[in-house]
Amino acid sequence: MLPQFELYRPTNLLEACRLKAQGAVVVAGGTDVYVAMHGGKLRPQALVDIKGIADMQEATYDQNSGLTIGALTTHRTIEEWELVKQKYYALFEGCSQVGSVQIRQRGTIGGNICNGAPSADSVGPLLVFGAECLVVGEKGQRKVPLAGFFTGPKKTILADDELLYKILVPPPAPNSASAYIKYTRRRAMDLALLGVSIYLALDKSRIEELRIAFATAAPTPMRAYQTEAKLRGKDYRSISLADIGKMAAAEANPRSSWRASREFRLRLLEQLVQQAFTTALQRAEGGDL
Ligand SMILES: Cc1cc2nc3c(=O)[nH]c(=O)nc-3n(C[C@H](O)[C@H](O)[C@H](O)COP(=O)(O)OP(=O)(O)OC[C@H]3O[C@@H](n4cnc5c(N)ncnc54)[C@H](O)[C@@H]3O)c2cc1C
Repeated sequence: MLPQFELYRPTNLLEACRLKAQGAVVVAGGTDVYVAMHGGKLRPQALVDIKGIADMQEATYDQNSGLTIGALTTHRTIEEWELVKQKYYALFEGCSQVGSVQIRQRGTIGGNICNGAPSADSVGPLLVFGAECLVVGEKGQRKVPLAGFFTGPKKTILADDELLYKILVPPPAPNSASAYIKYTRRRAMDLALLGVSIYLALDKSRIEELRIAFATAAPTPMRAYQTEAKLRGKDYRSISLADIGKMAAAEANPRSSWRASREFRLRLLEQLVQQAFTTALQRAEGGDL
């Protein structure tokens, strides 16, 4: 049984910010919040259900500015959006691997980000596409790069009165491709033991742009900036895949848990980076993803 709580259902964004500032816990799809309440880890006196705020459900694409995704957009909506498959394939791969159909139907991309879990499946793909967060509070709005959104496990830069309003994702280069590989202990519904996202833009065999992000490889979702910088501008035929894997894994800082040891994760990460890089490369050379 859930403990008793007050429930607010504003349709106005600023009203939701005000209620959050007063201590109400935000709930979107509830697939993290209600589980935490059931487990006794969260005992809020009040919840503010934001699903009634209409424009937070909207998701659009513009060829100049890219995707504008309302924080309440569900994983299922993104998974079923043909344009995302065509232009942001790693994001399709991330969202379509969250939980089950039922969870994806309910769980939102904003909730996935704001929950702050290092394993969040949508976050790595968004990081490699260079996403920004549009955050709204009582005093106004601000844009924050997603890469700077996380401050620790389950911790974000959101102030007490702030909500994640929209996620802005620039358009990918025409000569680019992406991949997300999620490694789990079992095939059915499991959190990422590790996740690797790659965005790669090529000028023939020259790496014009490379972005690499990891899930569950550090206390927060992270980018492998040093490896990206070392490889940018290089001819991919001059670098061994094994070196790319080693370089990128050396930037990670996974912990040992009941799921896997730190050593296992680091070895596995080397392999997954190679696999994700090869997949993105094949897609880039194939031309259309
Ligand atoms: C069975 C099961 C399987 C799962 N499998 C996966 C999986 O494979 N991969 C994965 O990544 N996740 C998984 N999850 C976790 C969860 O489904 C996702 O994190 C989901 O995206 C959360 O979205 P939500 O809308 O349900 O968030 P909620 O539970 O409503 O909220 C999550 C957190 O974000 C805050 N929040 C939500 N929206 C906003 C906002 N707009 N502004 C500010 N704060 C906000 C809430 O206060 C809360 O702290 C699973 C969960 C369950 C129960």
